[in-house]
Amino acid sequence: MIKRQQPKYIFVTGGVLSGLGKGITAASIGTILKARGLKVNAQKLDPYLNVDAGTLNPAEHGECFVTKDGAETDLDLGHYERFLDTEMTKSSSVMSGRILLKLIEDERNGKFLGKTVQVVPHLTNAIQQYIASASKGYDVHIVEIGGTVGDYESPAFFEAIREFSSSVGEEHCMFVQVVYLPYLSTSKEIKTKPAQNATRDLRSMGIVPDLLVARTEVPANGSTRAKLSAFCGVPEKGIALLPNADTVYEVPLTLEHQGIGAYITNKLHLRGHKAKDLKAWQTMVDQIKEKPSQKVKIGVVAKYLDNEDTYISVMEALKSAAWKNKIGFEFTWVDSEALEKPGTNLKNVFKKFDGIVVPGGFGTRGVEGKIKAARYALNNKLPYLGLCLGLQVGVIAAARNAGLQQATTVELDAQATDRVIDVMQGQEGKENTGGTMRLGNYPCVLQKGSKAAKLYGTTKIEERHRHRCECNNDYRDMYEKWGIKAVGTSPDGTLVEVIEAIDHPFFVASQFHPEFTSRPNRPQPLFDGFIASCKNS
Ligand code: GLN
Repeated sequence: MIKRQQPKYIFVTGGVLSGLGKGITAASIGTILKARGLKVNAQKLDPYLNVDAGTLNPAEHGECFVTKDGAETDLDLGHYERFLDTEMTKSSSVMSGRILLKLIEDERNGKFLGKTVQVVPHLTNAIQQYIASASKGYDVHIVEIGGTVGDYESPAFFEAIREFSSSVGEEHCMFVQVVYLPYLSTSKEIKTKPAQNATRDLRSMGIVPDLLVARTEVPANGSTRAKLSAFCGVPEKGIALLPNADTVYEVPLTLEHQGIGAYITNKLHLRGHKAKDLKAWQTMVDQIKEKPSQKVKIGVVAKYLDNEDTYISVMEALKSAAWKNKIGFEFTWVDSEALEKPGTNLKNVFKKFDGIVVPGGFGTRGVEGKIKAARYALNNKLPYLGLCLGLQVGVIAAARNAGLQQATTVELDAQATDRVIDVMQGQEGKENTGGTMRLGNYPCVLQKGSKAAKLYGTTKIEERHRHRCECNNDYRDMYEKWGIKAVGTSPDGTLVEVIEAIDHPFFVASQFHPEFTSRPNRPQPLFDGFIASCKNS
């Protein structure tokens, strides 16, 4: 039996400002190590006091990514999955609140009888246990610390990773600090001072970075590298310059070209892992960068319109489907609330699109607008992809179309008589406080001959869920009259999972979230089918 080596640990921290792409950096480092045949895992430690990402506002924090085992996590796990092509589990996402909750429960249960419970060692030990247990069975475990050096919530996390590295041994750990270098357009200079200060802050906590990843808006040159090296105490070979990229999938290649893969494997004594196989990745990036002359125009009907992060997995899934179908992709936000205004001319809004997507959502805001959008797509044979709430509004639209004017969802009106979408059994009366939903993977059986079955190439699938409401079975035998079909259900037939409109080029919606399993080089089948149909429309 080959004895597996002790796992190696790469800790990724951030300095200067947030939103620099620490997650992309962590995922990209994973990609270049995986290309060397190493077994790589990734984990995000979030110092926020929340217990999980389920109750965080997506407009502020971006999408809530759901793992196959039902954890509601930070969107960085989506990057890890897309770059590493590996399904993460709940152990890959840890927020402060979860650790603190357990610690306080332990204290109440008398586990620390007589002892003072302290940040060091109790909290820091608990953090280290999460790291160690998630790394089991892997060659390399990448741990990203959320936020930036200096955040009020983070000192315990920095202390935990410092202690961790001294206990497992320096040769098994490395620290990567991602920093930002601002550009002064007046003097046409890239400035390193904020990065120097952030690195000094990190050192003051006993952590000396081995690798500095410098993000810039414009390309930096060798003198920037030399200066960073001199003032931050990191060897020049350990400085990666990362200007804004055309596509995030280019980052692993940029790191590899700068010798970072070799630098990491040397530092971690990962001998015998020379084979670099980034060819397939390179081919994918080359294809992404091709600019097809024809493009599909997609309207995304949503209530959060400020940034793409809110629906990042949906966006990535749409893009990867466009890459596979060799067609350009242009999306436009459609404000669902604006559609509700009386007198809105839907044709004017939608005529410019080749297809529309209604992604998931919670709450009442904009739902009526989404129902209008679904109804427009249904009646005008406009390709439609509905994701979770997108299925629910599709069913309501079809019911109203067929004359059931009061058809609605329990989320809009809990007392309505025609709740064609209702709360699932066993969940009545629970509020949106996290953990009360159908979460994670559930099996689904697709009807032979349906569009969905053809796209998947199978009738047995499993996809990720995150919702509280379901199609109300009392109305299911009316679907055909309404012009739709439940073509996917739970294996026992009790829960509707996929609907399709009858006699429509593409009106497909799922109760699950297909976007989470899409990969840049392997679009999820429903997205693939949707884009293909938009291309032909
Ligand atoms: N709000 C709906 C529900 O709870 C849909 C959820 C979603 O789109 N993720 O069922």
